[in-house]
Amino acid sequence: MSTSPVKALFAAKPERWTAWEAPLRRAFDEAGLTVDLSRDHAPDQTDYIVYAPNGPVADFTPFTRAKAVLSLWAGVEGIVGNPTLTQPLARMVDEGLRQGMVEWVTGHVLRHHLGMDAHIVNPDRTWINEPPPLAQSRTVTILGLGELGAACAEALVALRFNVFGWSRSPKAHPGITCLSGAGGLDQALAQAEILVLLLPLTPATDTLLDAARLARLPNGATILNPGRGALIDDDALLAALDRNIAHATLDVFRTEPLPQDHPFWAHPRVTVTPHIASETRPATASRVIAENIRRGEAGEPFLHLVDRSAGY
Ligand code: NDP
Repeated sequence: MSTSPVKALFAAKPERWTAWEAPLRRAFDEAGLTVDLSRDHAPDQTDYIVYAPNGPVADFTPFTRAKAVLSLWAGVEGIVGNPTLTQPLARMVDEGLRQGMVEWVTGHVLRHHLGMDAHIVNPDRTWINEPPPLAQSRTVTILGLGELGAACAEALVALRFNVFGWSRSPKAHPGITCLSGAGGLDQALAQAEILVLLLPLTPATDTLLDAARLARLPNGATILNPGRGALIDDDALLAALDRNIAHATLDVFRTEPLPQDHPFWAHPRVTVTPHIASETRPATASRVIAENIRRGEAGEPFLHLVDRSAGY
């Protein structure tokens, strides 16, 4: 391992520095790394770029000695296609991010499974004596069985839901009916009383939920989208809410913040949450950044490398 300080450039919006500086320095210390962390390293002196979208770096060409770009975010659709990016790109896999997503997904699944809305807003004081079914009678389908989707699927299995999952490559998870490929998607959608989207946004997943696929969902289905807004055709979803879709709870949108005049805000059966399903937590995620710098300095393979050809 080199003895001179490694130069890590913090390339995120300036306001993120306050939240990240101390946890990153602590994580470097814990990992036994001597890292010169700064927002001002010259590009040709930078060894690692700690990256978040909308920060100061859009052109990676001058970073001639950078060994890796380490994303603070899990979703990399905004950087993976950057033609100037020749350095290895690692995305964020963080236990805090994972736990937050499990909580958001299980919370919203349980809201719809239990029919909580009817009791929370009941202005006519109607005595609705219809106990909900048990979880094992409810099928939840998760599109995307990666770090977040698999964790949510496992939590729902622990609650005894009947869980289907769909991914690009075939998988096996105890208690989950794992499907893949185009045929698998049709089957996964046809079963989904509650559908959760935890796919990355790539050319292959853009507008995956179009009118035809929305029509495959059973009558009364609920959609939860904490993945990315562009996974769904907005107009097709609004039309489907008049047919087979009972409710959509959406955390992510094609334009964020969601414009004030977007019909999702006013729709009585759409719940908007403002991209808060989960977020990278500095305390835990800083350790992931430190571990990747340790690996880079030790000549070991980086964790969580993005497959450029697949786009995630
Ligand atoms: P991963 O890369 O770990 O998992 C992605 C999953 O999607 C994998 O199972 C992958 O299949 C599957 N997939 C990708 N492309 C396809 C395809 N074309 N067809 C079928 N399956 C496909 O990602 P994460 O679980 O870490 O994150 C998922 C997404 O969640 C992020 O990309 C981001 O958009 C979103 N996110 C949202 C947040 C929020 O607050 N709303 C916070 C953090 C992330 P395979 O396993 O075969 O590779």
